[in-house]
Amino acid sequence: MFGRVLIANRGEIALRIIRACRELGIEPVCVYSEADRDGPWLRHAEQAVCIGPGPAPESYLRIDRIISAAEVANVDAIHPGYGFLAENAHFAEVCRDCEIEFIGPSPEAMARLGDKIAGRRLAKSVGLPTFPGSEEAIDDPEEAVSLASEIGYPVIVKAAAGGGGRGMRIARNEEALRAGLESARQEAAAAFGNGAVYVEKFLERARHLEIQVLGDKHGNAVHLYERDCTSQRRHQKLIEEAPAPGIDPEKRDRVAHAAADLLRAANYSGAATVEFLMDANHDFHMLEVNTRVQVEHPVTELVTGVDIVKEMIRVSAGEPLSITQADVRLSGHAIECRINAEDPDRNFMPQAGLIEHLAAPGGPGIRIDSHARAGYRIPPNYDSMIGKLIAHGPDRTTAIARLRQALREFEIGPIRTTIPLHLRLLETAAFVNADFDIHYVERYLAGE
Ligand code: ADP
Repeated sequence: MFGRVLIANRGEIALRIIRACRELGIEPVCVYSEADRDGPWLRHAEQAVCIGPGPAPESYLRIDRIISAAEVANVDAIHPGYGFLAENAHFAEVCRDCEIEFIGPSPEAMARLGDKIAGRRLAKSVGLPTFPGSEEAIDDPEEAVSLASEIGYPVIVKAAAGGGGRGMRIARNEEALRAGLESARQEAAAAFGNGAVYVEKFLERARHLEIQVLGDKHGNAVHLYERDCTSQRRHQKLIEEAPAPGIDPEKRDRVAHAAADLLRAANYSGAATVEFLMDANHDFHMLEVNTRVQVEHPVTELVTGVDIVKEMIRVSAGEPLSITQADVRLSGHAIECRINAEDPDRNFMPQAGLIEHLAAPGGPGIRIDSHARAGYRIPPNYDSMIGKLIAHGPDRTTAIARLRQALREFEIGPIRTTIPLHLRLLETAAFVNADFDIHYVERYLAGE
């Protein structure tokens, strides 16, 4: 096992990885930017190395500085967390060249699945259901137009290297498709340095489901069932749960097994998530594969008892997965709310600044993954998520009740957070009855 691991991330996920390292007897080392000098998680690291100014391109995205810090701290491995460099195959390659383990897939496996076009193709070959759409990147507008008339409007133009909902354009007719193709290509080239786009069928009403999978370096792969992340705003997940309420377990089992097959086919080690949209017939259509730990991994941990971050570290060190598929059993129901420092009453305006007081909830089945505490000043440079509140219970009704009570107990001020919004969303009939689709939060916010 590794002696020291460097965490190339910040905030709640840095703290989550610190906790996993400590359980495994590993010394965690953090890098931080000048804006994170007072980051509360840094206190729990064995060593912390400053890697530059607040803006991420000058610190958390600087491969050279992170590798230097890794050399100075003499670590065996680097955990990238999510965001920043987590899905950067070049970074994984540099780690390998420097003989530092990248805690995640090999650069080859990452490229095989992380590129949406390549990932779709491989997924199709192992029997995962994909959307009708283009098999290759589309350059020629005429080709896109003829494909769209074949599969039928609406269609969506998406970037092969896309992420965070960027580089996507919905087209309901030919004119919109021609325009969308060009603007998606430009946006993708600017945002990801790769302007390749493809076209697929657009589903008007869908739920977002995803399968958590884990693989090791010995050819083993397991799935940890699904999460439902239908509660989104502007493609950003707000509430996630496991298992997904009211779905067809046979269809789910089929895609979950195929998702594990996909890891084996890609020779993939580490954690991955295969994302799907589910239509009204409860059929799955694959969106993409995320080749990293997800923000919402705790709900899966609570219903399966598998520590995903520890498994990632173990398999990266060459150990086999500690579980087989037969060991994976679902127990109860878990729901997570993302606590963002945003004012839901003012168009989700980000709330940088001092947290003067904070009282965290507790009680049966409550888990909080957060670096936030009283006296912490939220820097303006990064994502607004300051933590996750997760409730686990024997069934969905109990999990909702526990989550509501925990949200009521959770006091953070004077900055505004998404807590009041979560309380309201958890009371909507759409959420309570799981009679929802990925646009229900937006409709609710619009007063519809
Ligand atoms: P990203 O990597 O940018 O998150 P995804 O492929 O995961 O891109 O898509 C993000 C979101 O965009 C999905 O959760 C869904 O809300 C919407 N979306 C993407 N593809 C489709 C589609 N074919 N039909 C309907 N909605 C889609």
